[in-house]
Amino acid sequence: MNYYLSLGANLGDKKFQLRQAIELISSLDGVDLISVSNFYETAAWGLKNQPNFINAAIHIKTNIEPLNFLKKLQTIENKLGRVRKEHWGARTIDIDILMIDDLKINDERLKIPHPYMFERDFVLIPLNEIFEFEPKLHGDEVIKTNGTLRDFNLKLIACVDKNFGIGLNGELLFHIDEDLKFFKRLTLNNTIIMGRKTFESIGNPLKNRRNIILSRTLQKIDGVEIVHNLEELFKKLSTYEKNFIIGGGEIYRQLLPYVSEIFLTCVNEKKSADTFFKIFFERFICDSSEKFKNFEFKHYRRK
Ligand code: ATP
Ligand code: CA
Ligand code: CA
Repeated sequence: MNYYLSLGANLGDKKFQLRQAIELISSLDGVDLISVSNFYETAAWGLKNQPNFINAAIHIKTNIEPLNFLKKLQTIENKLGRVRKEHWGARTIDIDILMIDDLKINDERLKIPHPYMFERDFVLIPLNEIFEFEPKLHGDEVIKTNGTLRDFNLKLIACVDKNFGIGLNGELLFHIDEDLKFFKRLTLNNTIIMGRKTFESIGNPLKNRRNIILSRTLQKIDGVEIVHNLEELFKKLSTYEKNFIIGGGEIYRQLLPYVSEIFLTCVNEKKSADTFFKIFFERFICDSSEKFKNFEFKHYRRK
């Protein structure tokens, strides 16, 4: 089974405790560690007036039964000095189970998916990094967020088929005139943010827009700004400008947790695709839509 866990600490040597917890979990018998998100510093949720947290999420595989596994996690919490005083109070370590495959559990001792996960950016942001992601081991840098995690004027624009496919072999699935006009109207004189592959498939910077490319490897290209990680990106963004994320799949996935609005063109077709746009619809509501012959423009706003 695939388990997704959330970890948090706001007392003691937080980073060290998170690392230790991850170490102890992955050395349990029959547990394989698949990936670890970045570490994020966040403001306390629920009970304010306590030290900032460091949060992370991990993906593991194991066949240990859920209730049994919860017990093992609680033993690890205790080992690392967790003392239970008030609910949502300060703690040396908190380990919650977010999801277990598609399981739904409603036991007094264990609720899956975790009942508050969709209300918590400090859970969703790290989770989003590792959710069905290629194996990756992070955890060296702490991303500083000034307490709140979402104060960028970030919008996402995408065109999907019926299965939420967006691309095949590095190319978009659709080239619809009205959609391209709509894209231009929205993004003109604003900022567009894209990954390297998307930039390469376009071939050159889009005119009359600020072009930002998020890429670990690219160095310097005329007419575009290159950032190598999210922290560098966020430093460049201003909430007074409109910042549109235009793809591809990996960039959507990385940035979705920070997005406040989504402009989605939904085409009424099924195509073969190798890249998809995954969205936690629990977090967004569709507040307007406009129908055309074969597609629909939909606008989503974060709840
Ligand atoms: P929250 O659940 O809101 O994140 P918390 O983590 O501070 O709060 P704890 O005091 O750590 O709460 O846990 C309280 C109880 O929650 C635990 O004893 C455990 O049995 C129960 N619980 C229910 N669902 C889960 C879950 N998905 N993961 C971990 N514990 C859970
Ligand atoms: Ca918790
Ligand atoms: Ca807990």
